[in-house]
Amino acid sequence: MERVLITGAAGFLGSHLCDRFIKEGFEVVGMDNLITGDLKNIEHLFPNEHFTFYNQDVSHFIHVPGKLDYIVHFASPASPIDYLKIPIQTLKVGSLGTHNCLGLAKEKKARIIVASTSEVYGDPLVHPQKESYWGHVNPVGPRGVYDEAKRFQEAITMAYHTYHGLETRIVRIFNTYGPRMRLNDGRVLPAFIGQAIRGEDLTVFGDGSQTRSFCYVDDLVEGIYRLLLSDYAQPVNVGNPDEITILDFAKEIIQLTGTDQKIIFKELPTDDPKQRQPDITLAREILKWEPQVHRSEGLRITYDYFKSLTQDELNKVEHKNFDKYAKH
Ligand code: UDP
Repeated sequence: MERVLITGAAGFLGSHLCDRFIKEGFEVVGMDNLITGDLKNIEHLFPNEHFTFYNQDVSHFIHVPGKLDYIVHFASPASPIDYLKIPIQTLKVGSLGTHNCLGLAKEKKARIIVASTSEVYGDPLVHPQKESYWGHVNPVGPRGVYDEAKRFQEAITMAYHTYHGLETRIVRIFNTYGPRMRLNDGRVLPAFIGQAIRGEDLTVFGDGSQTRSFCYVDDLVEGIYRLLLSDYAQPVNVGNPDEITILDFAKEIIQLTGTDQKIIFKELPTDDPKQRQPDITLAREILKWEPQVHRSEGLRITYDYFKSLTQDELNKVEHKNFDKYAKH
């Protein structure tokens, strides 16, 4: 059996990746320090004899006994309000955490894929964003802790590839949504759905003319899986090019949920990218991949997931582990 380490295993994307690799017949070792991840996302895997879990922070030395064929490095806070709350931890996991994963991959002669992001393009001056675009990032702005950590991650991953001959893959992930997002992680989709469910007005930041392009999680996982198994070491965008303004997105959520709440406008956060849309020509060519799930279908599934949460979960505002890690 092939054996894969998945960091960030208890998170939104990490937990879906665990499911996928188990389904593909891998032995899966999950790792997470549970700052933003939640064991609830993977508790269904615990009875599986091919799944093991380490509660460990990848920013510190990591060791996994036994062989590893692949490492899938997905540990990181991923929402703007999360990395504002734990900025130093965010920088550490993208830099030191990636270094530790690369070192482990080298020791085990494993192939590694790292989770990069559309944030490496910053507030882009080129539209749509191609992999060849170098980006427009403010290193000292509030988002810099995430963006620059991920840019460093790409640089050190390429360095291990070039200087150590390590088999590496880099996926640049655009906005993704689906079941197991944290309702209170601050990102726009859980924010709007949470507000609709609780009977609050929907908060659009700025005038809502900024755009995003939302990819359903199953499509993203398929793209990541194909990229890992491909022989392409340069970064690849994986996302859904179906672009929408945030104001129109709010209207879609109002229609989906049937809420009679209003849209209210709040201040646009600093350095909020004005437009974002992946150019997926490369993914189409190399991975023969493109998204299959239309937003109307993906949003319906995601809404059903959020509706199935208990009242306690719906009202939970802060994540339980932030305070513990904020000091580091
Ligand atoms: N946004 C919003 N209302 C909210 C949360 C977010 O209008 O309650 C906006 C945010 O300003 C951004 C977009 O929605 O323009 C997407 O934000 P998100 O935090 O989901 O991710 P980003 O793509 O900015 O990393």
